[in-house]
Amino acid sequence: MKIGVLALQGDFVEHIAILRSIGVDAVEVRLPDQLDSLSGLIIPGGESTTIGKLAVAYGLIEPLREFGASRAIWGTCAGAIFLSDDAHRDQPLLSLMRIQVERNAFGRQVSSFEIDLDIPALKAVDPQQRPFHAVFIRAPLIEKVGEGVQTLAQLEDGRIVAAQQGRLLATSFHPELTGDSRVHQYFVKLAESA
Ligand code: GLN
Repeated sequence: MKIGVLALQGDFVEHIAILRSIGVDAVEVRLPDQLDSLSGLIIPGGESTTIGKLAVAYGLIEPLREFGASRAIWGTCAGAIFLSDDAHRDQPLLSLMRIQVERNAFGRQVSSFEIDLDIPALKAVDPQQRPFHAVFIRAPLIEKVGEGVQTLAQLEDGRIVAAQQGRLLATSFHPELTGDSRVHQYFVKLAESA
């Protein structure tokens, strides 16, 4: 059981660290053949246009699409944008998840904020279902979810910030930054179910 973290740009180091802290064999991924031995892949936050362009340059787009057809992928923030099939802009997308996202949805003034979120699905790894302290950094919103996509978390006003489609997971926020490993544990379970 090995989980990869796409290490083209963004905060992949933090994801590797939190995975290792829960005993998961975690490796950096930059080339298509490094996907072979993995049960799941995390695409980190960063800058989605840059991640997309580098993925094109490294010949990763088709291999990532194939990977996501049968194995688990989780995109955080920019990674969630890259997983989506509509970001309102002309940028390389994996189009694996039927979600429409709005980049930088919280504007400039509140470009970063933290909030306690209810994520009922986390009861799979935390019977007490404690709220999850979520960090948003120039975050996208998930404006629309398509068929077969389940909403996992919403802000108080109903706007969607986490969604799941089979073994594909998208979060607007950054669970790798708080030391709370529950979303990582949840993702590892998804990857194990492949
Ligand atoms: N604003 C970035 C984008 O649109 C995402 C920010 C992040 O990943 N923290 O790609």
